[in-house]
Amino acid sequence: MPALRVPRREAEPVKRRLKRLNLYDGKRRPKREGDFVLLPVVEDERIHSLGYEVLSLELPLRPERQIYRNLESVLAERLTPEELKHIRRYDVIGDIAVVQIPPELEGRTAEIVWGLRKVHPFIKVVAKKGFHEGAFRIREYSIVWGEKRLETVHRENGVGVKVDLSKAFFNPRMKGERYRLAQLVKDGERILIPFAGVLPYALVIARYKKVRITAVELNKEAYELGLENIELNRKRLRGEIEFIYGDVFKVLPELPTYDRVISPTPKGIDALALTLNKAERWLHYYDFVGEDKIVDLRRRITGECALQGKDCEVRVKKVSEFKPHVFKVCADVRILG
Ligand code: SAH
Repeated sequence: MPALRVPRREAEPVKRRLKRLNLYDGKRRPKREGDFVLLPVVEDERIHSLGYEVLSLELPLRPERQIYRNLESVLAERLTPEELKHIRRYDVIGDIAVVQIPPELEGRTAEIVWGLRKVHPFIKVVAKKGFHEGAFRIREYSIVWGEKRLETVHRENGVGVKVDLSKAFFNPRMKGERYRLAQLVKDGERILIPFAGVLPYALVIARYKKVRITAVELNKEAYELGLENIELNRKRLRGEIEFIYGDVFKVLPELPTYDRVISPTPKGIDALALTLNKAERWLHYYDFVGEDKIVDLRRRITGECALQGKDCEVRVKKVSEFKPHVFKVCADVRILG
């Protein structure tokens, strides 16, 4: 069976590309070999034109259960079909599983923990997500099983991100979005990231591109974690990150303009004029809007561009469903002049 021999540093993006091209063979496991990784691929002519050596070898098959077992199917042994309907999507952040347990399943927490541990044998903590959120976007969590901590190191896009869910915001579901931005960025850019949190965007971009990033965050604990994350990833980063502790609305007016501004704007905050003002060529502005209000956001951005005398092209894309009919969106604003 064929496998691609890829330098370790490139393994992650190549794997994604293979998946996109339907060339990745998910039934077999990749294997480390010194500074290289052997990625399982399917028999297809295209694998020979990717610029990597193609080897023929037997990579171990993934056990069936790993491919097919998901939480619902595991829990089908212990919950009724009616109860199963209430199982929500969950996240695994480092070695912490984060679940929502709706009132209908309150009495079934032990079974849910059992199921999660079957599917993810390596988890050390199961935390239940509460609903309250403050200015720093931190949720309340209660630990329902395992070690009494909400701190862990999450791996994503080739970087390690130290997080503490009790102290700072982090959303693992934005992994694809961070990868998308890292692809858009070109070596040599100067980038501004307000509302930077523990630095997931900055780290992923600096991991892949030789850029200079300035990031700003007001939550002191997120800021401290971000500084640790720069150290933690130091050897892997091609780019540089300067991290400023402070209020975006006070710090940005003092800063110069940048090639690109990426604003993971917290819900309910309007930083459009400010961030657009700092952008020379690109602004990626995140916002939360109802499905029927997406056109309004476009109009608002076009209006702001006109006010600032900028000739802009605006594209708004849905990133995730925040709640029914309300989306987290990203407006990619290209400034032409
Ligand atoms: N970019 C990060 C965090 C996004 S959440 C990520 O994707 O993980 C928004 C972040 O903005 C939070 O970390 C919050 O603490 C921070 N924040 C909120 N108001 C701020 C302000 N006025 N100045 C700087 N940071 C702020």
